[in-house]
Amino acid sequence: MDHFNYKDGVLHAEDVSIPALATSVGTPFYCYSTATLTRHYNVFADAFAGLDTLVCFSVKSNSNLAVIKTLGNLGAGADIVSEGELRRALLAGIPAERIVYSGVGKSRAEMHSALEAGIHQFNVESEPELAALDEVACSMNVKAPVALRINPDVDAGTHAKISTGKAENKFGIPWDEARRVYGLAAKARGIEIVGVDVHIGSQITDLFPFEAAFKRVAEMVVTLRGDGHTIRNVDLGGGLGIPYARGNEPPPAPHEYAELIRKIASGLDVHLIFEPGRMITGNAGILVSSLIYCKQGTDRQFLICDAAMNDLIRPALYDAWHEIIAVKEPAPNAEFSAADVVGPVCESGDTFASARSLPPLAAGDQIAMLSAGAYGAVQSGTYNSRPLIAEVLVDGDKWATVRPRQTLEDLIGLDRMPDWLEEG
Ligand SMILES: *Cc1c(COP(=O)(O)O)cnc(C)c1O
Repeated sequence: MDHFNYKDGVLHAEDVSIPALATSVGTPFYCYSTATLTRHYNVFADAFAGLDTLVCFSVKSNSNLAVIKTLGNLGAGADIVSEGELRRALLAGIPAERIVYSGVGKSRAEMHSALEAGIHQFNVESEPELAALDEVACSMNVKAPVALRINPDVDAGTHAKISTGKAENKFGIPWDEARRVYGLAAKARGIEIVGVDVHIGSQITDLFPFEAAFKRVAEMVVTLRGDGHTIRNVDLGGGLGIPYARGNEPPPAPHEYAELIRKIASGLDVHLIFEPGRMITGNAGILVSSLIYCKQGTDRQFLICDAAMNDLIRPALYDAWHEIIAVKEPAPNAEFSAADVVGPVCESGDTFASARSLPPLAAGDQIAMLSAGAYGAVQSGTYNSRPLIAEVLVDGDKWATVRPRQTLEDLIGLDRMPDWLEEG
């Protein structure tokens, strides 16, 4: 469910016309909908009503300050994976006590900043990381609140590049090592054990892997308490999938996911933490692009648009499928035909869609790639010296540029000439 619909023959984000936005900010640009963000956050949070929960928005899915602030105003905390994301979450007004810090490679400097801020929980993923955090906390005379991220060795059934809960993945502490590492944590002066953490992957479209992982976590809570540890928090990570293609089997609804968790967590008496990202931001954003050329190849039609893999890398990186629609509503009797939608970057991988059925389109027409709100702008780069594109946030009939398009001066101005190459 989103708020991108045709009105008066053109695509709108809530009450704002996309062609009007394109005229103001130019293409390509990302457009986010406040109503959609709000709806998705509330559907998720409300599914757990009555339970002691903290919903930490996974900032890495969309780290624009305005997006974080929109969610923070609804009560969201933040799940962060770097000092940069810590800075963003704090700047957007998320209180430190609603921030959890995930990731396999936190540096000592990053740990220091997060301890200074006073965050809710560190999700620690290895013994060396635990030792480093202990050392940093001791040097500051504080105790770091820690949950160990346990690798439950379950197959999330998602794309290999976003599966994180199997033994062969780099994430978490191996299941069989968990008790021993908790023993080490209990002895560390700078560590306060507060919970257990798990995150098995992203774009998970079936409840079964969640069920398998969460049941293992529940057993672990009982075991660890038996070992004498205080386990208050259970962090169940993120990963709930979203519908990218109409007609596909829909992913589990938040209320079904919540029902499963209520069953497994009942009687455990824990504070539940969630780290949803894609589920909140995915369908709350679109990428709007203009067609530069329509080119007839030997056996296929290419639509060459002004967005490229540097702006949205998901199709190239994960074979992701994004629905593509015309910004101008097709006539009811329009004849659809197959085309490849590609960008200008000099890579064959710069392909958004192959043999996609689309209405008649001509150079200058605009298209929208849907479900681009998560892992879109945040993964963008400047390959081929293409500046970062604009991001716009809509709220009802209001809109604002929440990140202006980078200029070529900004982009090229980052380079420095060594003195031996300067003109004499
Ligand atoms: C990426 C990530 C998330 C968010 O995943 P989604 O699939 O976007 O919900 C949550 N927790 C951790 C540790 C992550 O790495």
